[in-house]
Amino acid sequence: MSNCSSGAAQANPFAIAQAQLDKAAAKIGLDPSVHAVLREPMRELHVSLPVRMDDGTVRVFKGFRVQYNDARGPNKGGIRFHPDETIDTVRALAAWMTWKCAVVDIPLGGGKGGVVCNPKEMSEAELERLSRAYIDQVGRILGPEKDIPAPDVYTTPQIMAWMMDEYCKITGYHAPGVITGKPLAVGGSEGRGDATARGGAYTVREAAKHLGIDLTKSTCAIQGFGNAGQYAALLFSSLLGCKIVAVSDTKGGIYDASGLDPQKVVEHKQATGSVVGFPGARQISNEELLELEVDVLVPAALEGVITEHNAPNIKAKIICELANGPTTPEADEILYQRGVFVIPDFLANAGGVTVSYFEWVQNLMNYYWEEEEVHAKLDKKMTKAFADVLSASLEHKVDMRTAAYIVAIQRVAEAMKLRGWV
Ligand code: GLU
Repeated sequence: MSNCSSGAAQANPFAIAQAQLDKAAAKIGLDPSVHAVLREPMRELHVSLPVRMDDGTVRVFKGFRVQYNDARGPNKGGIRFHPDETIDTVRALAAWMTWKCAVVDIPLGGGKGGVVCNPKEMSEAELERLSRAYIDQVGRILGPEKDIPAPDVYTTPQIMAWMMDEYCKITGYHAPGVITGKPLAVGGSEGRGDATARGGAYTVREAAKHLGIDLTKSTCAIQGFGNAGQYAALLFSSLLGCKIVAVSDTKGGIYDASGLDPQKVVEHKQATGSVVGFPGARQISNEELLELEVDVLVPAALEGVITEHNAPNIKAKIICELANGPTTPEADEILYQRGVFVIPDFLANAGGVTVSYFEWVQNLMNYYWEEEEVHAKLDKKMTKAFADVLSASLEHKVDMRTAAYIVAIQRVAEAMKLRGWV
């Protein structure tokens, strides 16, 4: 197992998601009926996916799709391909999608999918067959008005294109709105590629304004160098003026106190498969990266990496959680007591689903926007969401995560009540 995910095995992510909900529910005296509905997923599908491998044998992969709550609109959320995927991880991620869509106030519910597989050990053709097999089994509960997947850990725009194609073949009509995060040529949106990191940058800008921090004099460390981490390195530097001093991936981290050139590190990763070995930088571990003396820390890998063991040693002033679920509840408590300002995952990383929403809207209209329009609309959504959460945090005297829950669950609860579910 990689360093990036070393904490993931220690706690059940769905138990964590429920504990976070319970904490916020207690704070606002949430109606027990509403609370009971919000603690469980509405629906889940478990599938076995037979896939012909390149050597001619058939392997059967386990897949899931969880539809958590669709009171505010069709379910929305990515599909992960990961060797350690479990139904409880997918449940937690589906719950977080529900709160994420509500906190940025887009008319969508929450869902998530997963396949237990290791894409790093599969050929392109095997991945295509697996992607199509997933839709063959799960496609019956998907649809532009039902449930709309997107990319997540180890799934790509190409995989979204295959999945969209398979869905269209099954249904017999053109339905690009069944999935988002597609390449531009098949109905993707301008601005979707870097949307998660860009949205996170907007929240850090707002946090710094609130805390009185000058970001142009700040340093930043990023754990994880996939889609979110790479764009975070580029955009936190170019949009916010942060000096990126450390980044890491599953193979390890690199540190340079005088600042790394994010574009060159991206090129190094593309050429060699890792950030490790970047010329002029000192090699560090993922654990060391989290405890560096920096202003802004960005966990952008997997869940469960900030725990009660390392939270006391974290020196960052702001943590921007681009990963889903990087911080355990015990760590949350410690960070709050120590005055670390945490921008919680489903607020910090909501830029991805927000531009997915824009992509879906454009697909349904069959009319496409320019990149500047997408950026401006994303900025507006993220800035408003940050302000709503900050004001709930000040009003209820709670940490930003509990405040984000309060904002989100009140919105979902209102929709459930109006629909007569509770
Ligand atoms: N997988 C991303 C997330 O966790 C994006 C989901 C989407 O665009 O639907 O937010």
